[in-house]
Amino acid sequence: MITTCMGCGAPLQTVDPALPGYIPQSTKEREQILCRRCFRIRHYNEVSPVSIQKEEFERILKELGGKRALILNVVDLFDFEGSWIQGLERFVGENPLVLVANKIDLLPRQTNLAKVETWLMDEVKKKRLETHKVILVSARRGIGVEQVKTLIESYANERDIYVVGTANVGKSTLVNKLLHLFGESQDVGLTTSRYPGTTLSTVKMKIPQFHHVIVDTPGVLTTSRLTDLVSPESLKLITPEKVINPKIYQLNSGQTLFVGGLVRFDFVAGGSQSFVGYFANQLSMHRTKLENADALYEKHLGELLKPPGPDDPATLRDLVTHKFKIRKGPAVDIVIAGLGWISVRGKEEADLRVHVPRGIHVSVRKAII
Ligand code: GDP
Repeated sequence: MITTCMGCGAPLQTVDPALPGYIPQSTKEREQILCRRCFRIRHYNEVSPVSIQKEEFERILKELGGKRALILNVVDLFDFEGSWIQGLERFVGENPLVLVANKIDLLPRQTNLAKVETWLMDEVKKKRLETHKVILVSARRGIGVEQVKTLIESYANERDIYVVGTANVGKSTLVNKLLHLFGESQDVGLTTSRYPGTTLSTVKMKIPQFHHVIVDTPGVLTTSRLTDLVSPESLKLITPEKVINPKIYQLNSGQTLFVGGLVRFDFVAGGSQSFVGYFANQLSMHRTKLENADALYEKHLGELLKPPGPDDPATLRDLVTHKFKIRKGPAVDIVIAGLGWISVRGKEEADLRVHVPRGIHVSVRKAII
């Protein structure tokens, strides 16, 4: 029987998705085994897999406080709450911090970007941090990256540039794009240089023509966002690849919306109003009567309502209820970490019950779109 991953050599285990060598139980019987981390790299060219445990992550961040650095904190715009580094304020020290909000290409076209920027500034302040700048980018498409480059240039003779963020926010994609702009003739291939089996620690790259270096730090996987918990198959279903098409529902109280089989959103009481889902386009939503929701879930989980699929951890079927009372007023978003959000337009009061897998972070914010 194969006991180590053929990609990275980590001992295979089926217990903890956040640790190296994790494979879902049902993959174990197959012959050529890659751990989930390597699987994601091979099949989706994703570097997310290169992540480390919390203690190691914190150790790297702790060193930051004592250095002269410019900190580029990369977050995923589509999953701001889920991709925020908990406790970042403890690690920054006196260093300037710039928030680089990535994946702007996913936001619907009608999005007011100035509003998004203000929202991000406010969020950073709430976390007791100072940021002198927010830059909206799409590392993949190269949007806004030039602006990041200009910023780096203004610091690169006096400080090292540290790129920090949780796993999967797009750090490596950004650093690759930056180095390209700085005139590195070939793709520096961060992905491959960080292929599992090589170092999982920081990667330093000299910035051409400058004294200092860009340091790409590994990300940490969390346990509170869905993207870190689902199987590779389900990850494909919940990861947005293209600009999000909002899904609009006019609901009466006594109706339920399912987002795949991962979230159940009950409109318990309140006046008829619209609810807008911002999720990956390929992830289906279903509307039903509240009174039929239990039966639908029992009968169709894993088929009509998916993910979860056969390879997902059983914990995704253990739903916990969060209650929200929405007042009449400006629209709000109910955000499910690592999945997306439902915007409640707020024309009427609404009593809501949102059921999500245990441990998954749910929050309410002013609507950003
Ligand atoms: P890291 O773990 O923070 O280094 O993240 P990666 O650079 O490996 O990117 C993680 C995933 O996000 C990959 O699937 C990338 O293709 C994707 N990604 C990176 N940048 C963007 C972007 O600007 N837009 C979109 N939609 N996806 C991106």
